[in-house]
Amino acid sequence: MIVMVINSGSSSLKYQLFEMNGGKVLAKGLCERIGIDGLLTHQPAGKDKIVTKLDMPSHQKAIEAAMSALISKEHGVLKSLNEISAVGHRIGHGGIYFSDSVRIDDSVKDAIRRVIPLAPLHNPAAIMGIEACEAVLGKEIAQVAVCDTAFHQSIPKKAYSYSLPLDLCEKHNIRRYGFHGTSHKYVAQQAASFIGRPYESLNFITCHLGNGSSIAAIEKGKSIDNTMGMTALEGLVMGTRCGDIDPGAISSLLREEQISVERLDEILYKESGLLGLSGISPDVRDIELAAKQGNTNAQNALDVLCYQIRKYIGAYMAALGGADAVVFTAGIGENSALVRANALRGLNRLGIEFDEERNNNCKGGPALISTDTSPTLVLVIPTNEEWVIANDALRLSGQKLQ
Ligand code: AMP
Repeated sequence: MIVMVINSGSSSLKYQLFEMNGGKVLAKGLCERIGIDGLLTHQPAGKDKIVTKLDMPSHQKAIEAAMSALISKEHGVLKSLNEISAVGHRIGHGGIYFSDSVRIDDSVKDAIRRVIPLAPLHNPAAIMGIEACEAVLGKEIAQVAVCDTAFHQSIPKKAYSYSLPLDLCEKHNIRRYGFHGTSHKYVAQQAASFIGRPYESLNFITCHLGNGSSIAAIEKGKSIDNTMGMTALEGLVMGTRCGDIDPGAISSLLREEQISVERLDEILYKESGLLGLSGISPDVRDIELAAKQGNTNAQNALDVLCYQIRKYIGAYMAALGGADAVVFTAGIGENSALVRANALRGLNRLGIEFDEERNNNCKGGPALISTDTSPTLVLVIPTNEEWVIANDALRLSGQKLQ
């Protein structure tokens, strides 16, 4: 049984095709520069990438290009598009409307549209992706929405409230929603299997550290806090996103620089974070190298990142009243021994006994990187959001594996 996973951005669209029997990725790809000109990178499993310039004036044309690649004589992996049983869509923001994945119908599309003010770039793209699949695969194809915010709908009011005037919060839906929910839930469940105890009996602090980063506090299977907020800007310093900042700095910038809100968004989303701090790159690999060569701005960027991870782990230890495990995942969490070490070293009094050697030898995980006597375990668990989305799509399509 074959399931397609789609992640639509404003001018790009990623896809992966899974054979659910065995969980094999058959092909994956990326449509870029949608609405500008168009570039398709298609990669059948075990083969080289094929990069083609193609006209992609709309998401529908991008989906059509991806589908053509999937059934093409030379690079295809399917005989016909009828072999696709379901499509799972990653939805950036589900607002208050979704606490689980859901089969897409008109009311689900309406709810995704209602959240557009909270995710003005991502949600319109998601709708375009869904409607493009309807146009290409037919209205009957089972489509499922998997929201990044859904897992965090259990965050209690005291943790999701911002202290602005109540009427403004209500009018504009201003509150913490939390993000990366699919990844946080997945790695916590995987960590529970690794430990060999029931997921619902354990407390976790999960650190999703990638290009975008967030940390979650999970109490007995339920998210009770996340460092990301109303948007995916809050919390940790990220590749190019600013993370926590005094709101007074924002009004001051607007006043002193006389910039538009659009320009402000550009600064906060695209020019800040590790790139802003280091002046070099948003990529931790580049920053680690530059810091090693003596670049003090790069060293400071790393120091800020590790300090913030450490600070939030401490905060969530308090919020949970202690954790069974701290879990690291995503590009930085799985691969940077340096970031993990600098975030965790010397936390023995918090019950985290970090093992330097295990950390250095960890090659992406799953792996234990705390000592055998550590009261709180530290684990590295690779995330796999696309696989979760594919499974939810299959489950909610009502079809079963033979
Ligand atoms: P993701 O968004 O999960 O794909 O993570 C991407 C980020 O992970 C990159 O921008 C890098 O900052 C980081 N990353 C990937 N590989 C490594 C590595 N070997 N060492 C340090 N950071 C890495």
